[in-house]
This record gives sequence, structure tokens and C-alpha cells, in this order.
Amino acid sequence: MFSALGLALIVALSFAGWRLARRRLLARKLRMLPGGSADTAKKVGGFKEIDAEIERRRCHCGGRMKSLGEGTAGDQDRRVRVVRVECDSCEEQGYLYFDVTAAYH
Ligand SMILES: [Zn+2]
Repeated sequence: MFSALGLALIVALSFAGWRLARRRLLARKLRMLPGGSADTAKKVGGFKEIDAEIERRRCHCGGRMKSLGEGTAGDQDRRVRVVRVECDSCEEQGYLYFDVTAAYH
């Protein structure tokens, strides 16, 4: 038999679990968007487009993304630029991938 406090605790825990699951789902959906992984790297024609895309992107919480740094990824056939981003609101970090092969031609 549950006491009122026990019941409140169960409700609170389920809510926290639901929020975590929802957050993970949203984060996974974001990773599946173009640019969410090296395989789906967003094709850009120049480096200005990378800045524009970061500016345009929104975190799943609605916050703005800011760049923390860049690096290179990819293989011999593709030049991929990876940008580490952080949300201004919830401070969740992630990576955005850009195929910059065209920018070198
Ligand atoms: Zn956020």
C-alpha cells in the first residue's frame, strides 16, 4: 500500500524518466538530421555556410548553438569539418559535420 509521499515520489521519478527518454529521443533525432554525423555531413560550398548553419540550428530545447571549436574528419575522398557546438540555454554539447569537399574545388 502506497502512502501519499510514496506515490508522489513514484510520480516524480516517472516524470524524470519520461523527460530523460524524451530528451534522448530528441537528441537522437538531431543526430539523424543532415550534419548530425560524419555519414550525413551537410554539404557546404564554403566556410561561411558553416557559420550560417550553426547560426540557424536550434537545440532541442530551443536554445541557440555556439561553436566551441573545429576539427577535421572524413577520409581521402571527402573533406569533413566537424564543429563542436554547445547550446546557450541547456549547455548540451554536440557535433555538427560538414562536407567541405566542394569548398576546395
Ligand atoms: Zn539546449
